Formats: sequence, structure tokens, C-alpha cells
Amino acid sequence: RQRQMKPRVLLKIVVLGCSNVGKTSLMKRYAAGDFTDYRRPTIGADFMTKEVVEGDQPMLLQIWDTAGQERFHGGSLGSGFFRGANAALLVYDVACAVSFEQVAMWREELLVRLDVDPHDFPIVVIGNKVDLATGLAMDGIHGVDKTRVMKWCEMQGMGHIETSAKDGTGVEVAMQAVAVLALEQK
Ligand code: GDP
Ligand code: MG
Repeated sequence: RQRQMKPRVLLKIVVLGCSNVGKTSLMKRYAAGDFTDYRRPTIGADFMTKEVVEGDQPMLLQIWDTAGQERFHGGSLGSGFFRGANAALLVYDVACAVSFEQVAMWREELLVRLDVDPHDFPIVVIGNKVDLATGLAMDGIHGVDKTRVMKWCEMQGMGHIETSAKDGTGVEVAMQAVAVLALEQK
């Protein structure tokens, strides 16, 4: 008995955030094993594709990563990076408060470049490097206040998931969540 599958949907997901928060590591972790492709187009960005199935809906996720231009500012990213995006992951480092403060800037950049209404575009905020959080509770100086972060994300209509590209925590969950939101919005 074979289940009737729907036609495959292509979903473009862009990954943004400050330099060094772990964007590339998250993609590599997610890709580990069975990614089908990882290439660097001439526009100065990388993307990988991965086939996933949600119920009877096959999806081809095309996940875009910056190639380091985020070091300068969002404006240095080419328009090809944003064009046709269906959803975004905005990544910060839970051990680096500044990287969270910058999430608002990345969100703004994204909305301006895509020319979309904030409530029509799915965004999931990712607090990466959660494997470092235990140590932070002890020194607690540079870490990000989780309660405040969650409240802010909720107010902005964005999801929030903690991950560790190092040990894999939350990575599948985060990618699945953004894919489902992108699908619903498409
Ligand atoms: P990007 O600039 O946002 O693409 O960040 P990278 O993926 O290049 O990672 C920057 C640094 O953070 C590297 O040294 C990674 O090994 C490290 N890193 C990335 N993710 C994690 C994580 O979840 N936990 C820890 N402890 N280190 C991480
Ligand atoms: Mg990178």
C-alpha cells in the first residue's frame, strides 16, 4: 500500500545573523549524512538542499547561508540571497548578548530587502550554542536573558528555538519548524 504523495514543493530558507554565531555550523550539522548538494553560486552565498517529507507533503528545502558578508552589514548581501525566500532563520549566540541585540537589525534588513509585511513572512529565531549555557548560568555576564528573548520574539510573531550545532540539540526541530511555517505561508 502506497500513500498518495502531493507534488514536491521547493522552499527557500535564508539563514541570517551576526558573524560567528554558528550559522554555517548549523547548516553543516543539519546536512550531515544525507544532504544532496552544497554549492557556492557566484553571488557570494552558499546553499544546500535537502529533501524532507511532512505527512504526505514532500519538500525540497533550499537553505541559504551567507559567505561571510554579514561581517560588514546586511546591505552587502546581494539581492539574489533574498529573492524568493519563503522563510528565515535569524541566529544569535546565547553566550553573546550583542548577537541577540543584532537580531532586530537582521529582521529589519530582511523585511526591507524582501519588501514583505512582518506578519506575512515566517521567521524563527535561533539561540545557538546552548551547549555553553550551563557555564553561563555561573558567570552570567555576557549571556542572553532567555525570558526577555522569548517575550520579544512572541511579540514580534516569531518562533524561538534553542540549538547547539556542536551536539545537535534542537537542529532538526528548528529546521522542521521553519519548513512547516514556510509551507503554510506558501
Ligand atoms: P557563522 O559565522 O555564523 O557561520 O559561524 P560558524 O558556523 O563559522 O561558527 C563560528 C564558531 O562557533 C566556530 O568556531 C564554531 O565551531 C563555533 N560554534 C558554532 N556552533 C556552535 C555551538 O552550537 N556550540 C559551540 N560551543 N560552538 C559553536
Ligand atoms: Mg558562516
